[in-house]
Amino acid sequence: MTLRLARTSAEAYLYMELHPCERCGESDFEPVSAVVSVQGDLASRYTGACPSCGNEREFMFRIPERPLLVDPENPQFGADRPSELLDPGEWLWVADTIASGVPANPDGLSAEQRRDARVDLRGAAAAVGEVLKFIPPDADAVPFEAFDSDRGREVYQTEPGRFRRARLEAVAQTYRELAERFAT
Ligand SMILES: [Zn+2]
Repeated sequence: MTLRLARTSAEAYLYMELHPCERCGESDFEPVSAVVSVQGDLASRYTGACPSCGNEREFMFRIPERPLLVDPENPQFGADRPSELLDPGEWLWVADTIASGVPANPDGLSAEQRRDARVDLRGAAAAVGEVLKFIPPDADAVPFEAFDSDRGREVYQTEPGRFRRARLEAVAQTYRELAERFAT
């Protein structure tokens, strides 16, 4: 059994959200986690019961020997290598989903709400950055073979032009600039 690498726990949680309960379809899941050793590799194991149907669920991921330290103000899902858990279409879906939950305007928000919005927008920029990691150095767009999930391929087929390097860089930059509008 080869476990796939979860570069950060944030990435592991995204993967679990994208893989709802196989029995009832519930995506809510609040597992307990433990670090275990699997064939000489460090792994993290997430276990818990599905809150809707009680199904006992478990996820295991290989984890890096040296964890990536992430600033809570500035979410990151992994270092330079592309994700083994989410494909580029899923990453763009994550970015869209995070960004669509952020209020359009900082007026009237509390300091905490502004902080959440700022961190979410930086997270959306980081998710777009994950898409960029799938583009080979000599290419200007994500290659189609990088998409290996149904959701990811659907996002791609809806608008393939979103996966061009220049467009992704512009979107990530826009999210970073928007995040600054929510500075306290
Ligand atoms: Zn369930």
